[in-house]
Amino acid sequence: MDVVSVGNLNFDIYLKVSELPGPDENVEVLDLYTGGGGSAANFSVAAARLGLGVRFIGAVGEDPLGELSLRELRSEGVDVSYVKRVAGVRSGVVIVLVHPDGVKRMLSYRGANLGLSPADLTIEKFRGFRHIHLATGRTELILKAKEIAKEIGATVSLDGGTALAKKGLDIVKAVVNGIDIVFMNQVEAKLLANSHDHKTAVEKLAKELSVRELVVTLGPRGAVAFDGRRLLHVDAFKLDAVDTTGAGDCFAAAYVAMYLRGRDLYEKLLFANAAAAIKVTRPGARSSPRYSEVVAFLE
Ligand code: ADP
Repeated sequence: MDVVSVGNLNFDIYLKVSELPGPDENVEVLDLYTGGGGSAANFSVAAARLGLGVRFIGAVGEDPLGELSLRELRSEGVDVSYVKRVAGVRSGVVIVLVHPDGVKRMLSYRGANLGLSPADLTIEKFRGFRHIHLATGRTELILKAKEIAKEIGATVSLDGGTALAKKGLDIVKAVVNGIDIVFMNQVEAKLLANSHDHKTAVEKLAKELSVRELVVTLGPRGAVAFDGRRLLHVDAFKLDAVDTTGAGDCFAAAYVAMYLRGRDLYEKLLFANAAAAIKVTRPGARSSPRYSEVVAFLE
């Protein structure tokens, strides 16, 4: 088996509205779309579609939404046998208000996701895997997973999201120390480096963080990576984006897939940009491509 992905699993509800409700106001929803979400679960599906053997470790409540989410992951070939069932809480739900102004407004109920604790990350759940992907900003989970990775000789990637970036550079430096690949988007990079400009932010973080590879995604401008020797930027593919939800998770899964195949920095960035490009042309957080689709796209 290849990768254990640790972190959140959500049930996403998208509501398309033409206006936002004021106090006591009832606004009619024009369209509704539901689907699996949560960064670690999205990564799991994207990685499985790219041909990796994936186990997801997270937590759901004892409710129908949790069962539905697990069924979806299973149908993608993701191993969910170690997902924790937390009694008395609901599975995580995210409500996304899609408004014509293009600004996403999200309401997150973390619910059962918070029930995953470092004590749940035991070595037997990771043994036999060569890579651990952490899609969480919770430092206690990151530190525990790092210890396990060391013991079993697995490599580690981390996408800590805004939650981690908000903790500030000193904490992040300590937490990411020794991690093989750290992913973040440009908003998180700028926040963490306290810079308005993504170039300055990447250069600062490349100096400050002791990781093997730092990868910063730049939305429609592609991504930049630093591997300790060189800083390389690869442009995004030009296309009409329909929905960028989950683009970063798909990008990370594709990058890790190429990392595990021993590809060079340019090949990893190119393949990840291509996989994420296909994803953004389709609606939904889990609309990532299969390996053969990415190869065909690049031909
Ligand atoms: P996140 O989803 O984490 O905020 P980004 O918005 O940076 O991450 O997007 C991740 C990757 O998805 C980018 O590096 C790029 O490869 C791809 N991508 C995102 N938006 C577009 C777009 N409009 N056109 C083409 N590729 C895109």
